[in-house]
Amino acid sequence: MAEITRRPTRTVRVGEIPIGSAHPIVVQSMTNTDTADAEATADQVALLAQTGSELVRVTVDTEQAAARVPEIATRLADRGVTVPIVGDFHFTGHRLLREFPDCAEALAKYRINPGNVGRGEKRDANFERMIRVAIDHEKPVRIGVNWGSLDRELLTRLMNENAARPDPRDSRDVLLDAMVESAVGSAERAVAIGLDPDRIVLSAKMSRVHDLVDVTARLAERTDAPIHLGLTEAGGGAQGVVSTVTALSILLQRGIGDTIRASLTPSPGGDRAEEVRICQHVLESLDLRHFASRLTACPGCGRTTSTLFQRLAEEVQAHLDARMPEWRARYPGVETLKVAVMGCIVNGPGESKHADVGISLPGRGESPRAPVFIDGQRTTSLAGEDLLPGFLRILDEYVEKRFAG
Ligand code: SF4
Repeated sequence: MAEITRRPTRTVRVGEIPIGSAHPIVVQSMTNTDTADAEATADQVALLAQTGSELVRVTVDTEQAAARVPEIATRLADRGVTVPIVGDFHFTGHRLLREFPDCAEALAKYRINPGNVGRGEKRDANFERMIRVAIDHEKPVRIGVNWGSLDRELLTRLMNENAARPDPRDSRDVLLDAMVESAVGSAERAVAIGLDPDRIVLSAKMSRVHDLVDVTARLAERTDAPIHLGLTEAGGGAQGVVSTVTALSILLQRGIGDTIRASLTPSPGGDRAEEVRICQHVLESLDLRHFASRLTACPGCGRTTSTLFQRLAEEVQAHLDARMPEWRARYPGVETLKVAVMGCIVNGPGESKHADVGISLPGRGESPRAPVFIDGQRTTSLAGEDLLPGFLRILDEYVEKRFAG
């Protein structure tokens, strides 16, 4: 199997979670509750963490929000949720982090947007204040540049310099350079102020796939800091998911990216944890990480005889989802388990042999018995009422035998 070689980076520790190329790519997410509502925010952080988010970011935009961050941390600790909480600061971070030291201490990392720390002289002073709080509390930061809030003074300067050239470059090129310059220049300023380089993660987010790929590739050439990936304002629905997955996959395939987030707009009342599952699926699809056992199922076609195949695939997936939390605790490595449920003889036996445990259902006109394969060998066949319970029993026995102790 072709492996992805990751770009070498420093390691940054966020609480207990290491970020960088020597460590697994970290899945993160962000709440959309009002942080001043400590109960609702703690509930959503817990949901995201239980789904598998390894860092959770919360908005800290007001005094009320900053004041409630310690309570959120306490509520989570009381529930046994230990996920590091990251504070997302814009415009007011320099003030809130200093005026609410308990908030600064409760957070595991600060996200600083250098385009939103103030204008003119205030910008550098405000940025320095935030970095000094990070130094005092021994916290890492993510310097996250976003093209929607790019430092206007920097962009204007680079655009003017470009216009004065005898051979001006394309303005998109200059914009991407300004994004990279903002991230790298801010990181250099943070180090000059005294922040340990091992406490800096960088990101440069844009909302179009090609732009994000190009700007992040340029950023990766200029820094050895870990890079956080995310397509900003990706939108919702299938379009948002596809754009996000495309952008993340292209970069991850090139070995770029040490933490990821899917910035999707959930439908009203939708499941916020979906953004976590999407990140997990991306990493699993690229064989970069495994979070749950993988079910391979064919789409079904005119050769499948009934809905039996769809029901079996659905129920096997539900069984895996239900058992996985307990299996993970008891059987280390069980998340690498591969299961196949296939619809007919065309690809069924072949795909089932590639899985750890597979079943190939009878298609139209085939013998009614379904062969079962374990570790590539046909071991038995199932039929009739025993098909589903029999296959689940075989699955459970396989997990216990292979992954116990
Ligand atoms: S394995 Fe058989 S049933 Fe499934 S999609 Fe292929 S041909 Fe159709």
